[in-house]
Amino acid sequence: MTQHTDILIIGGGMVGMALACVLAKAGFDVHVVEEKLPTPFAPEQALDLRVSAVSLASENLLDAAGAWGQVLAMRATPFRRMRVWDAVGFGDTRFDSRDIGEPFLGYIVENRLLQLALWRAAESLVDVHLHCPAHLEALEISSAHVRARLSDGQTVQARLVVGADGARSRVRELANIGVTSWDYDVEALVATVKTHAPQQDITWQRFTPSGPQALLPLPGHHASLVWYQSPDEVARLLALDETDFLAELLRTFPRELGSIEALQGRGSFKLTRRHAQVYAKPRLVLAGDAAHTINPLAGQGVNLGFMDVAALAETLIDARTRNQDIGALHILQSYERKRRGENLLMQSGMDVLHHLFKPSRGALPMLRSAALALAQNLPPLKRMLTRRATGREGDLPRMAQIGRLK
Ligand SMILES: Cc1cc2nc3c(=O)[nH]c(=O)nc-3n(C[C@H](O)[C@H](O)[C@H](O)COP(=O)(O)OP(=O)(O)OC[C@H]3O[C@@H](n4cnc5c(N)ncnc54)[C@H](O)[C@@H]3O)c2cc1C
Repeated sequence: MTQHTDILIIGGGMVGMALACVLAKAGFDVHVVEEKLPTPFAPEQALDLRVSAVSLASENLLDAAGAWGQVLAMRATPFRRMRVWDAVGFGDTRFDSRDIGEPFLGYIVENRLLQLALWRAAESLVDVHLHCPAHLEALEISSAHVRARLSDGQTVQARLVVGADGARSRVRELANIGVTSWDYDVEALVATVKTHAPQQDITWQRFTPSGPQALLPLPGHHASLVWYQSPDEVARLLALDETDFLAELLRTFPRELGSIEALQGRGSFKLTRRHAQVYAKPRLVLAGDAAHTINPLAGQGVNLGFMDVAALAETLIDARTRNQDIGALHILQSYERKRRGENLLMQSGMDVLHHLFKPSRGALPMLRSAALALAQNLPPLKRMLTRRATGREGDLPRMAQIGRLK
């Protein structure tokens, strides 16, 4: 049996579900296909390894999607301050939400809880239809519609299909959209630890000759530590037993970490930069990691995905208002024009940071310390960077139409 809908979203991760919620709230009929149901939340559950720094602009989008209240009701850690410094130079920049008149700079939230909150919001919307567990098997695109065959035996026919199915997007592959990509020479080792210090309101990142080290605060006496290292070094660290691993963290992380009482989880992530060669084809469009992945140095990956959601929803709502076909290539390309430059800029900015802070000799260490010192000592520059990182500049003003959906 074939089901008919306006928009079919493949991938019910953070980006796909946020898009489903805002589109359904705007009056579109939406079907979502997702392979795995997120595990339900229980307060006694250990903290997940995968967490994201959610910007103020993303918080606004999640609120418009009807999910932010659910996130706060589960677990989220606000942070007010951010510090970035160079272990071998004099550069040290400190950002504070009060500099831009905000109570917080953002929140650290477990990825699963973001996804779960969006699922709960979607379940309360009659115009969102969920297919889970199911995955996309085949896609047939004609001039008037797109037809998808799912693994649960169903067929869905839509005016538009959205690939929000992550970095290894099947939609992207079936549409023959290539990617420009390369692997970074470092991996991210992530550890959730129980700290002696109580809940912190700061995220920090220290650049060292062996790679950046970062702390993201988590609820209570917990923190997520990120350590960028060569794949060989990551493998060596992960092979250590818990006592030796903790000793290594205490030896190499800065004293700002304080003492660690226990290790609650550890793992590693390979880092790849990818950019789809196009985001749009007739009746098909990509969003989130399906369109781009980024070095997570500044924690911007899913924030870029949420801004794709805002731009795509705005484009589709606008097209409908003008009685235009939401699957028409020129409409979808106008979404791509809104996002490609922004995403590329952020990807390239992260690459500059990646290279700037690599172990180096000559003028480079001096240059990076000077850049950090400049940001610290020029208040207008610091305010601009803070507003940009939180999404107060650029992203939020663009979200006016989404804001009205609340
Ligand atoms: C080490 C590390 C740290 C990071 N830290 C941050 C951070 O602090 N802040 C930040 O903003 N970002 C961060 N990111 C990036 C962030 O995790 C991603 O950008 C984000 O997960 C992308 O969300 P998405 O919904 O686009 O894709 P995904 O999270 O990959 O979701 C895709 C969904 O599609 C489903 N799916 C896949 N294929 C199919 C199919 N064929 N049919 C049906 N369903 C399918 C999957 O099950 C999944 O649920 C980090 C990434 C890494 C590696």
